[in-house]
Amino acid sequence: MRYCSSCGNRIDENARVCPVCGAKTEKKSDKSDVQNKIEDFITNFTNTADTTAQYTADDITKNKSMAVLAYLGLLFLVPLLAAKESPFARYHTNQGILLFIVQTIGVAATQIPYAGWAAGALINVFTTALLVIGVLNAIKGEAKELPIIGKFRIIS
Ligand SMILES: [Zn+2]
Repeated sequence: MRYCSSCGNRIDENARVCPVCGAKTEKKSDKSDVQNKIEDFITNFTNTADTTAQYTADDITKNKSMAVLAYLGLLFLVPLLAAKESPFARYHTNQGILLFIVQTIGVAATQIPYAGWAAGALINVFTTALLVIGVLNAIKGEAKELPIIGKFRIIS
């Protein structure tokens, strides 16, 4: 509910002029609402489970680059096969496999005309964002789940 800033009368949400006193009303900026919603969305989107404390500093330092590889397509095979003894690398390998599965679904979708192209394009944008987030988490030495898909466990 809005009120006129000069006479205090109740006015319609979208009114540009107060119907009682005729004063011009400041319309709430839609842009800032949208901006707030986007900011909330991004905050919620990236606010995922963080279990960094469960890994040793030594493991994180030694296996960061393995963790980064986990997000780069089929290269998840490198940490999967070569860093079996690193809980930190395995955490990220699991995240990378999840990402790879969703990327594969996106590629498969593009084989279906129209609806599949659109879905595939959306999935591609989504997975590209997750790839960047995953790589940044790995570089920062954090064990943080990818948004939306990261809660699933394929390997332990
Ligand atoms: Zn008024």
